[in-house]
Amino acid sequence: MGNLVILGGGESGVGTALLGKKKGYDVFVSDKGIIKDPYKQVLTHNEIEFEDGKHSEEKILEADLVMKSPGIPDKVPLIQTIKAKRIAIVSEIEFASKFTAATIVGITGSNGKTTTASLTHHVLRQELSVGLAGNIGDSFAKQILEHDYPNYVLEISSFQLDDIANFKPHIAVLTNISPDHLDRYDYNFEKYIAAKFRIAENQTKDDYFIYDGDDEVIVNWLENHPVQSTLLPFSLTRVVENGAYLDNDNIKITIDNKHIIMPTANLALEGKHNIKNAMAASTVAHLLKIRKQTIRESLENFQGVEHRLEHVLKINKVQYINDSKATNVNATYYALESMDAATVWIVGGVDKGNNYQELFQFVNEKVKAIICLGVDNGKLMKNFGGMVDIIVETQFMSEAVKIAYKIAEAGENVLLSPACASFDLFENYEDRGRQFKDAVRNL
Ligand code: ADP
Repeated sequence: MGNLVILGGGESGVGTALLGKKKGYDVFVSDKGIIKDPYKQVLTHNEIEFEDGKHSEEKILEADLVMKSPGIPDKVPLIQTIKAKRIAIVSEIEFASKFTAATIVGITGSNGKTTTASLTHHVLRQELSVGLAGNIGDSFAKQILEHDYPNYVLEISSFQLDDIANFKPHIAVLTNISPDHLDRYDYNFEKYIAAKFRIAENQTKDDYFIYDGDDEVIVNWLENHPVQSTLLPFSLTRVVENGAYLDNDNIKITIDNKHIIMPTANLALEGKHNIKNAMAASTVAHLLKIRKQTIRESLENFQGVEHRLEHVLKINKVQYINDSKATNVNATYYALESMDAATVWIVGGVDKGNNYQELFQFVNEKVKAIICLGVDNGKLMKNFGGMVDIIVETQFMSEAVKIAYKIAEAGENVLLSPACASFDLFENYEDRGRQFKDAVRNL
């Protein structure tokens, strides 16, 4: 099969190494950083050659095919050299999908990928044998090797889509598009949009493209860059002939004149954004012939995903909510929108060039106090200082939660929804969310 070089020894890299070896490639894994011990053990155990802390360029350039992990930007010199040598570079989903005949549901978007992918998987698994992979859990490559499910739900980032060639999901979902990760796209929003739309580039009219029909970025792009796929929009604001929309308080899904109707009141997940996510998930389920009753029930009993508007505890009738995964303004927008009572809002972290203006309305309406939690809280103070009576700052999660505890009264919420990345005070958003939950439990 030739030489397969894998750049990056994380989940997708090691998964690809295992699958590549099984399929007969000579595999070499190279990571400029440090490969975590459990992954090293897997590689050693499977007699796969690897290096870390460096890239041995000479050896890498002997590759017939390179799999580049999604974390590695195109602009690093090694990638430029590989491209100049005309060695093909693929992403893990491109590589792995060659080795399965499974029906693939691919889910991408700026926000809501994990939630929608997990919800879709939850509905489908009631009646189908289906794997959940991509940015979640075990890599797609590893699952193909170990289970080869007949169906997969894949959560797909734009970085995974950057290096596809033939990858084609039978059903693609685009949850929404708002500016994010622009540093990887030459600060050009169009390039980022184009990257997201690659999820549909190999689809034909026999494949489906499910998307937010209220998202102007998506709708405008589609007008100027038509796709071959059968379009199934979902909308909260207008009637949709084929796709999903809100009919009073019901979600109505129509595909080829077949309907499903579901009351939104019974959905397990709260907030308008989650109605959209539920619309996307149930449209997929309807396409894959899951029974109506099953779809309804599984949307009602879905437990949610950790760190996404996760209800932690109620203390003295105050609800504590962990939305640590809200690492951009758009995600926090939906969190604040879904607050049904006065809210003490914990916000802050590494600002990614945020424009807070779209949050002003909700802050005026719902936020009674703001706790800024980050290394640099100046911009938050400046934006929101005049808007609420209480605005304080801290650099400790435990202190943030204690202050919130003092301020919040019965019937109110304490919401951690940072709108920022977590790397100033925390390892990652999971660490931030866990510290929040620990602090709440220690109150
Ligand atoms: P992703 O995997 O795309 O980062 P997640 O499902 O992890 O998305 O959710 C990230 C954040 O965005 C969470 O704060 C969540 O509450 C919020 N969110 C979830 N679905 C949507 C949506 N459809 N639109 C906007 N924000 C959303």
